[in-house]
Amino acid sequence: MHELSIAHNLVELAEEAACAAGAVRVTLVRLRLGEMAGVVEDALRFCFPVAASGTLVEGAELHIEHVPAQVFCAQCAQSYTLTPPFVFRCPVCGSPTPRLLHGREIQIESIEIEEGERETTNS
Ligand SMILES: [Zn+2]
Repeated sequence: MHELSIAHNLVELAEEAACAAGAVRVTLVRLRLGEMAGVVEDALRFCFPVAASGTLVEGAELHIEHVPAQVFCAQCAQSYTLTPPFVFRCPVCGSPTPRLLHGREIQIESIEIEEGERETTNS
């Protein structure tokens, strides 16, 4: 399943960032998900805990922020937000708008972590 590999990828990235920060656990992953990223959100939500199982990310909440599809129309010299069914045409003048500015993102915006207690070795 496509979403499972994406989930694994996200978990890996979150875990790397968590390790670098000295975290013992990731509590929240904030994700920016483009409307045209080709990801089924429900499937991703289902796969995320599966991918996170056994990692620092296990039990973390997944917060998904949607990024609207935005195109740039050269004719109008303006950017517009596309709505489904996402035809790549300017909603105002109708010319083709192949340039997608936003909407394909699958990006971790931030994570929240639980920091580990520093072990005291000088007892
Ligand atoms: Zn236009």
